[in-house]
Amino acid sequence: MIIDQYNRVHDYLRISLTERCNLRCSYCMPEEGIKLRPRSDFMSLEEVVTMAQTFVSLGVQKIRLTGGEPLVRKDAKEILQELSKLPIELAITTNGILLNEYIDTFRSCGVRSINVSLDSLQEEKFNSITRRDYFKRVTANIQSLLNGKFHVKVNAVVIKGVNDDEVCDFVSWTRDRNVHVRFIEFMPFQGNKWDWSKGVSFKDMMTKIETRFGNNVIKLDDGKNDTAKNFAIANHLGTFAIISSVTNPFCDTCNRIRLTADGKMKNCLFSSSETDLLTAMRAGEDIEPLILKSVWGKKALRGGIETMEDFTKQKNRTMVAIGG
Ligand code: SAM
Ligand code: SF4
Repeated sequence: MIIDQYNRVHDYLRISLTERCNLRCSYCMPEEGIKLRPRSDFMSLEEVVTMAQTFVSLGVQKIRLTGGEPLVRKDAKEILQELSKLPIELAITTNGILLNEYIDTFRSCGVRSINVSLDSLQEEKFNSITRRDYFKRVTANIQSLLNGKFHVKVNAVVIKGVNDDEVCDFVSWTRDRNVHVRFIEFMPFQGNKWDWSKGVSFKDMMTKIETRFGNNVIKLDDGKNDTAKNFAIANHLGTFAIISSVTNPFCDTCNRIRLTADGKMKNCLFSSSETDLLTAMRAGEDIEPLILKSVWGKKALRGGIETMEDFTKQKNRTMVAIGG
């Protein structure tokens, strides 16, 4: 078991497959993009699989692939096929642009849970947030997943003056679709010009929703390691949730470990320290003790961030280079 000083068992690994992305979401990717690095800096297919096998041998039960955009990686299908041989639940987070090319692979690899980012239901606004023009494709691909009976979560980062006027529209969108919409509080990362005055809190989102839907808002049970507070509206097919990493973190039940595309392990999304597993693995070292030591040293709360002020001081990567 991978366990920390606070007795939290870590059985969920998120692997970033690439730092590259075919979108430029303003809250994630710095406007100037990120510096491209040689391919040798990143894990090969074989290295991703060996890393995954090592984590699974230590007790990891679920792996989610992320990025950057995981599906822009040319060998994403092979990676999915190899990882599907492990005794784990395999999931993916994607911006949805290339989903149509992967539906058969998802099915054959047993990937049932797919998170897709969609920050606006309005084409122009979506294009302005993502700095690209893929609204129709992403929404059509989400519909294809729903038609194919996949378990679809739609992630929306809520930013004041940008898409906070759409919170209730997203909730209405769950009326006829069996989709789970997750509103995420805007989090700080390098290069995303974060400032909490742009953030919308759990409380403010709930006020909007309760004002519009009143007594029809139903609180649902939250899973053991859920990062979200779950809700539904009476008679809606779908459900929704709010992820309040900024105003009310969920660290006491955290079971997550992250592995960046360049093979660095992060014991927390917000931690400034990393453990270089790839260099150690390439040198023939046993990486298991490094994994155990890293998790043992995990801070109790948000990588040591306790106040809003700490958020602005903490050194971290860009989100696109971490893998959300
Ligand atoms: N490209 C894929 C996607 O967009 O779904 C996977 C990687 S993306 C970094 C993973 C998730 O992180 C997305 O749902 C995205 O909305 C979220 N994210 C990125 N930057 C964020 C921020 N500053 N605050 C909150 N969530 C963020
Ligand atoms: Fe790309 Fe996802 Fe970041 Fe948007 S949120 S820039 S799609 S990695």
